[in-house]
Amino acid sequence: MKFLLTFSRRGQNDPGREPVIARVVKETGVLVNVEKANIDSMAGEVLIDIPDSDADLVQRCLEGMGVAVRVMENAIALDEEECVDCGSCISICPQEVFSFDEEWRLRMDAARCVLCGKCVSACPHSALSLQG
Ligand code: SF4
Ligand code: SF4
Repeated sequence: MKFLLTFSRRGQNDPGREPVIARVVKETGVLVNVEKANIDSMAGEVLIDIPDSDADLVQRCLEGMGVAVRVMENAIALDEEECVDCGSCISICPQEVFSFDEEWRLRMDAARCVLCGKCVSACPHSALSLQG
């Protein structure tokens, strides 16, 4: 399961300078796969992937540290009415989210998405959007 984490590094009730991911791993024993991270002196946004069976435990631990946790079940959305099965998204996606089925219709495995946004800008029919 993927979680999108956001946290401030400034406020009294925020994680501040704490190494959030390292602390979660230490406190829960769950191995966390960091798929994307954007952290600066003010705030952080991190996409992590964890086993479904550990999701509740990890979510509780993170929220206890003041981290906002968003469950990303369908990170990327496809508007099937707009899609023309051109395949541009297949070639640009670094995570192999997209493929053709046996009838050359687009199919996707949204659980693999790491929210890079490349497919959204590559689609000539604006058929793709990231979960907002
Ligand atoms: S790039 Fe857009 S139109 Fe082309 S297959 Fe992908 S979603 Fe469909
Ligand atoms: S946002 Fe990036 S990882 Fe997700 S489906 Fe699009 S290209 Fe692939």
